[in-house]
This record gives sequence, structure tokens and C-alpha cells, in this order.
Amino acid sequence: MDRKVAFVYDDIFLKHETPQGHPESKERLLAIVNHLKKEGTWERLIHLKPRKANEEELSLVHDLNYIKKIRSSSSGYLDPDTYLCEHTYEVACYAVGAVLDAIDGVHNKEFDRAFCAVRPPGHHAEVDTAMGFCIFNNVSVGAAYAKKMGYKKIFIIDFDVHHGNGTQHIFEDDCSVFYFSSHQFPFYPGTGRELEIGKGAGEGCTYNVQLRAGAGTKEYLTVFQDILPQKIREVRPDLLLVSAGYDMHKDDPLSYINVTTEGVRSIIRSILNSSYAPKIFVLEGGYNLQVLAECVKITLEEMLA
Ligand SMILES: [Zn+2]
Repeated sequence: MDRKVAFVYDDIFLKHETPQGHPESKERLLAIVNHLKKEGTWERLIHLKPRKANEEELSLVHDLNYIKKIRSSSSGYLDPDTYLCEHTYEVACYAVGAVLDAIDGVHNKEFDRAFCAVRPPGHHAEVDTAMGFCIFNNVSVGAAYAKKMGYKKIFIIDFDVHHGNGTQHIFEDDCSVFYFSSHQFPFYPGTGRELEIGKGAGEGCTYNVQLRAGAGTKEYLTVFQDILPQKIREVRPDLLLVSAGYDMHKDDPLSYINVTTEGVRSIIRSILNSSYAPKIFVLEGGYNLQVLAECVKITLEEMLA
């Protein structure tokens, strides 16, 4: 019998419109939803429509003036990559709300695994800056919310091919949130060196794995089958949040990392086997529509098993 796995999604996420040709498009979520329906995965999931995170919740991580700035901005580019349309603020609040609802759900034991199919993505967003397609840091607000609820050790795994600069910076001096990232390096956004290990009271609670352009499944399996389980055993988390970006796939147009589809399955399996703690996956990148849809399906199959 299947495990209880929540899929947190709403068509509201399609209302964040980006200009023609922008890789972070609503077609990404449409491809995922259509593929899950076609493959029969859709009906095996518990479907949740997220709530809208409020300003107080956003401010667990973000600067109030920044939140106000995003709310009152008119359409346009916030940085060379990050576009905001008239609905973006509202949609971004729902993206955060999806993670908060998933945390509530695992806390209330309605399910112990959830996948939040959201956009805009979050891991590049800093306390007071939008960047790299990200407006609010969905996973970070989730971690701060979970901390407030009483979770003692939250472990964030970020397998997006880009380093999650925002997430790292938000928790780098806080050992109750451990940040583990594998990413192409050197690469956008420039952070994520292995010597970045956290600061002050958070020293030792950030772990970065740099991977060179051309690395593939073999290198990733060393990271996810050897290093990650060991770190998780040391930290003993009571909640796992995953920044799930599928742009490390060999057919993704935005990276030079060559993980195969079966490699993605092995990564997911290692994450799921690494701890008994509840696990919440939150979509970040992934820009080849077919690959993204198939990888999310595989993730959900593994989560259901
Ligand atoms: Zn990415």
C-alpha cells in the first residue's frame, strides 16, 4: 500500500507570468501536472491547496521593508533574471504558504511526506533581495516556522545545481538549521565554497559540496550515498526540508552537470532512506520540461514507496 504523500499545488502558481522565452515559466508546473495525471501518479496523492502566507510569516525571514517593496512593485525586472508581474507578490505568498501547510500537515500527522510544487522558486532569495528567479525563500520561511513550532534540528538538503545562497546566509549563524548543498562550482551565484561552513554559533552547520562542470551520476552518488547519510546521522534532525531543483540533470539547459534520470532516482532514494524524520520537498529549478516532469514523477513514486 502507498504511503500518505501530500502534493501541495494550486493553479494560482500559473499566475506568476514571466516574459516569453524565460526559463522559469508556468509551463514547468503545467508539464508536471499533466505528466502526473497521464502516468497515474496523480490519483495516488493527497491533494492540498495551499494557504497564503501572511506578512508576519514572511517576516520570520524577510525584512519588512523588502516585503512592502515587493507588494508595491509594478511589473518588471528586479534583477537581470528575476521578473515580477502584477500577481507575483500574491503568488509568492502562496508558494511560502504551501511549505507552511506541508509543515502543519506533518506536524498533525496527516502525512509524513509532502511535495510542494510551487513557483516562483526560493533558494536564491536573501533576507532583503530578490535574485535568480526567486522572490521569497520558501524553504527558509518554512524552517523558521518549524523552529517556532518546536522542531529542534531542521536539516535542509539542496540538490539544485545552483548554490542556495539565500538559504545559507539566512541560517549560517544558527545551528538549529543545518544546510547541506551540492552544486556546480564555480557557477551562478558564486557562493557555496567548501570552506563556507557557517559562522559564529552556526559554525559547522553548513556543508557545501562543490562539483565541477562535467560531473555526473557517479560523483552525485558519492555525495548522496556516502556523505549525506553520515551528516544526517551526526545531526539527527527532526525535520527534513529538501530544496528540490532538477537542473543538475544531464539534459537541463541551465547547467553542465550530467546526472541521469536513474541517478535522480538514486539521489531521492538516498534522501528518503537517510532519516526517519518527516520529509518535505519543495520545487526549486529544473528547466527541461519533459525531464522536470519525469523527475518529479520519480520523486513522488519513491516517496509513495
Ligand atoms: Zn537552479
